[in-house]
Amino acid sequence: MDFKQYVADVPDFPEEGILFRDITPLMSNGPAFHAAIDEIVAFAREKEVDVVVGPEARGFIVGCPVAYELDKGFVPARKKGKLPREIESIDYGLEYGHSTLQIHKDAIKPGDKVLIVDDLLATGGTIEACVSLVKQLGGDVVGAAFIIELDEFAARDKIADTEIFSLMHY
Ligand code: AMP
Repeated sequence: MDFKQYVADVPDFPEEGILFRDITPLMSNGPAFHAAIDEIVAFAREKEVDVVVGPEARGFIVGCPVAYELDKGFVPARKKGKLPREIESIDYGLEYGHSTLQIHKDAIKPGDKVLIVDDLLATGGTIEACVSLVKQLGGDVVGAAFIIELDEFAARDKIADTEIFSLMHY
């Protein structure tokens, strides 16, 4: 399938100089979204995943159907102040701005094989933060999967230990 036909390129959003890759057309097309999730699931099936972690907010949209299909749990990595119980926390940089991600401490058990899923890999700041959070809790990151990878940032080099699957490259 030509997945790129379902990505809208939006110049200067949310700031001047950023070419925003909008995947909402992909999400709103049932067969295309299903096919995209199936490809990530196929990658995940080779990894014997115990749990799927997805960062807020688009990591929820992509990660939840992957976890559902694998019959595994989904763990949200949320922005600051959203999780009600004991948390592990990390600050990190973005392509535009910076942020904090938090995860419930009891969501990952030592030795859990964790797949991290997000919509897009840009600078790698978000994924690097997720990898650190999972490792702090004793989890084993067995892979990371994305709908889109922006090759210009060479984010793969930041998490060279983690096997990465990306459906589309720009
Ligand atoms: P990064 O931490 O730099 O890898 O950025 C990844 C996160 O920022 C993803 O969760 C995306 O949702 C968002 N993001 C960063 N750059 C873009 C972009 N050019 N188009 C769409 N989303 C982006």
